[in-house]
Amino acid sequence: MKRGLQLLNVAAMVVLMLFLGAIVANGFASRQPWSLVCYKCKACNNSCVLGIDPQGFVDAELAGNSQVYIYTTNVRLPLAQAAALDPAMLITVEDRHVTARAALDELHIAPQQEITTYRVQARHAAQFCLRCGACEKECVLGLPLLRIIEKLRNSSGPSLHLEDRDVQ
Ligand code: SF4
Ligand code: SF4
Repeated sequence: MKRGLQLLNVAAMVVLMLFLGAIVANGFASRQPWSLVCYKCKACNNSCVLGIDPQGFVDAELAGNSQVYIYTTNVRLPLAQAAALDPAMLITVEDRHVTARAALDELHIAPQQEITTYRVQARHAAQFCLRCGACEKECVLGLPLLRIIEKLRNSSGPSLHLEDRDVQ
């Protein structure tokens, strides 16, 4: 029994080390190894007028996945445009958070109605981003957040032409 528990312990340690190793490898593979030192203090969070959680960009970078959903709570755009961008995007309708698709199909909100985003893919948040640098200035570690944002913008294909977006 004791030996079985020891083996389980060793196996759990190996899995944990592989997991941590993959995160470190991703940080280096993305050429942004500094992203490993972000300790999620959220000091950057309150600086964004678009309600973007800039630490989410770091998470996306570490995961090597630009489709990670991150908080973006203050971008306004027509519902049809939100649904075309990503039907699974979460938006705020009154005090609820629903997908853009559900807002159209179930709540029957008019496609031209302006909605407010809640959680969007990191690559889309990077397109919304004003690149004002306020989050970068607030980062207690001085991490180059704008560099990640630029990379995510470039990874999301052609510009989304979001000139019409608005800030509440
Ligand atoms: S650079 Fe982008 S994410 Fe950072 S505070 Fe400005 S708008 Fe928000
Ligand atoms: S302020 Fe810097 S260290 Fe803190 S969560 Fe934001 S990016 Fe990470």
